[in-house]
Amino acid sequence: MDPEEFRKAGHQVVDWIADYLANIRDYPVLPVTSPGQLAASLPPSAPEAGEPIERILDDFAERILPHVNHWNHPRFHGYFSVSASGPGILGEMLMSALNVNAMLWKSCPAATELEQVTLEWLRQWLDLPVGWFGIIYDTASTSVMHAIAAAREAAFPENRTGGGLRDAVCYTSAHAHNSFEKGAISLGIGQRNVRLIGVDDNFAMRADLLAAAVEEDRQAGRKPFCVCATVGTTSTTAIDPVAAIADIAEAAGMWLHVDAAYAGPTAILPEMRQHFAGCERADSFVLNPHKWLFTPIDISVLYTRRPDILKRAFSLGAEYLKTAQDSSAVNYMDYGVQLGRRFRALKLWFVMRYFGREGISAILRDHLEFAQELAGWIRADSRFEVMAPVSFSLVCFRLTSSNEANQRLLDAINASGRAFLSHTVLNGIFTLRFAIGNIKTNRDDLAGTWSQIQQCAAAL
Ligand SMILES: *Cc1c(COP(=O)(O)O)cnc(C)c1O
Repeated sequence: MDPEEFRKAGHQVVDWIADYLANIRDYPVLPVTSPGQLAASLPPSAPEAGEPIERILDDFAERILPHVNHWNHPRFHGYFSVSASGPGILGEMLMSALNVNAMLWKSCPAATELEQVTLEWLRQWLDLPVGWFGIIYDTASTSVMHAIAAAREAAFPENRTGGGLRDAVCYTSAHAHNSFEKGAISLGIGQRNVRLIGVDDNFAMRADLLAAAVEEDRQAGRKPFCVCATVGTTSTTAIDPVAAIADIAEAAGMWLHVDAAYAGPTAILPEMRQHFAGCERADSFVLNPHKWLFTPIDISVLYTRRPDILKRAFSLGAEYLKTAQDSSAVNYMDYGVQLGRRFRALKLWFVMRYFGREGISAILRDHLEFAQELAGWIRADSRFEVMAPVSFSLVCFRLTSSNEANQRLLDAINASGRAFLSHTVLNGIFTLRFAIGNIKTNRDDLAGTWSQIQQCAAAL
């Protein structure tokens, strides 16, 4: 692609993105499509001869886009609502243009040092302990797997050379994200050695049940080595009692990981810090800037107070990767399974600088306030009930009716194309989840979606 052709197509693409973001409300939140429909509409094999970029761009708009879920839509409230902010998109574009590999300091000094600088800035905003080491992975699932690997390295150093992991057990709550179990399975801990601890009426881990499970395992000769507490669970944004869990972890010599993948950014707000009490005692802590920090997917940040252990778990020192700076600079490849790494810090740097702490705080406060407002409307309508405490920006609610009626309500809302919600099941009860977190969501969107929900309920 010659420079002039690139320039012309590049301008077209930027114009398209600007229009797309400006007119995002005109798109249906969800596509009307079914499995295999898009695939069947595309050629079964790639072209032999190259095609003009105009044709590819046309096909993107006409063939691909109709099958896209618009995660950027301000009425996308399923799962957790995320945002590709303007500065984040620009950072992402430059990141792919540079195409550096951030495996070693020497392989791109800027990528390594900007990762250190942005994560230190973010650590300060979040009020996490001075000196914590930060590293960027793709997702929280990858981050937690590395946290468990570090915990394993700390407790079973012989595992590195092939020694067994006999009787290793780890703990999280029955409401934790299943990436913890997946990580434990991947690392050879085994699913049956992951204890899912029961929760209280607010869906938070019961510390007394954790203590009892740890004691029972010790009595049986097993080796508790890791516990994961969650601040903001995926189902309901419940908050585990991190300080009490830290007491148990310390007494048992276990690694404490805190999963704040979604709720973590709210630690920027002094009035929300109460929810993070005890996190300063964690061995590792994760949050996803791609969830609620307005940075495009993917970027997850893991902090640890014990980078030496993480490094011991993952560094090998191959001759062809040795550099003169190995003793004076961080080589991020030594802290994970990946060798090649993207320059993800660049987009986070764009976002943090563009909005500043004040800008980000204002958006987060809006979202927290919207959630309280919505919960108020739901409580004021006697057909509905709120199903879990609203501590962050997720509202769990349902019709006071059968599971089947609630499933039909959810289907009707989502089929309208005007909004997207997802669901969870709480103690056997089908519950709708309304997650707020998109940078464009405003009061009109919120009120519009709520009246849409009310209309769908009336039509049932
Ligand atoms: C979303 C989420 C995860 C998984 O995040 P990925 O980055 O998609 O792997 C883990 N834990 C919690 C609490 C989450 O909300």
